[in-house]
Amino acid sequence: MELSVHFFLSSAEGFLIEMEFDDRYRPAQMTKYDCLLFDLDDTLYPYSTGIATACRNNIEDYMVEKLGIERSIIPELGNLLYKNYGTTMAGLRAIGYDFDYDEYHSFVHGRLPYENIKPDPVLRNLLLNLPYRKIIFTNADKVHAAKALSRLGLEDCFEGIICFETLNPTHKSIVSDDEDDIEFVGPAAEVPATTTSSSQIFDIIGHFAQQNPTSKLPKTPIVCKPSEAAIERALKIANIDPQRTLFFEDSVRNIQAGKRVGLQTVLIGTSQRVKGADYALESIHNLREALPELWEVEMKSEVRYSGKVAVETSVTA
Ligand SMILES: [Mg+2]
Repeated sequence: MELSVHFFLSSAEGFLIEMEFDDRYRPAQMTKYDCLLFDLDDTLYPYSTGIATACRNNIEDYMVEKLGIERSIIPELGNLLYKNYGTTMAGLRAIGYDFDYDEYHSFVHGRLPYENIKPDPVLRNLLLNLPYRKIIFTNADKVHAAKALSRLGLEDCFEGIICFETLNPTHKSIVSDDEDDIEFVGPAAEVPATTTSSSQIFDIIGHFAQQNPTSKLPKTPIVCKPSEAAIERALKIANIDPQRTLFFEDSVRNIQAGKRVGLQTVLIGTSQRVKGADYALESIHNLREALPELWEVEMKSEVRYSGKVAVETSVTA
């Protein structure tokens, strides 16, 4: 069987956005939602797999071994970068480190204990019976996303994947004629490929050590959650209406950013609702109990598509 998951590629990169509609049901007009948007890590599988912890350790090793950062400052530095920039990687780029994105991702994800992610036929069954568009939205790279989904046995449950490469295209020389795209791809295109000396590194620990910081935090060229621009960009690429989309996430700040751009939100990993979360579920497995209305859809027709459909064509037709 052909793998039905596609990675969404930015149209600014010159690629046509492709989507394949396998076993897709079109719900009746009056349903509340069109689309289910899922984070991947710690959302579709539990935190207890240890993947997140191993990932954090690998990031710390990368900072020491590849960027020459002193081990003793790593916990504080990593924490500040993650808090202020969404991902440690985005923060490292912001404060002046330059490195190859693919190399970073293969170092950080290459040694993860993927064997801890087990096939999840229960979730698979839940997903396949939900008559909505289903899309993955992750800050991780496409290799990691494909591996994790494959371990879960969910690789054919989603229409597409929005991942690091989708929002951070590396073919920087192609300039889009779409004005909206320029706004988003611009920062990545302006990054000079220079080597980094320690004098060019912004001292973020020193910055926050000041009572009234005089310096301004530098901007990152990396587009990722929880930036609202990143979420809006993802919605545009996948042609998603936020008002008619449920967004599943384990990260509170991503949930809150999602809420600000108009998404309906489901916090995963706790049953305690927080500000910005419309629902809170201990596990994605509780979906049917928490949101029974998702299954209360009257099927007007069953539409199966085969082959590839260009979004741009279907929108303008
Ligand atoms: Mg997550």
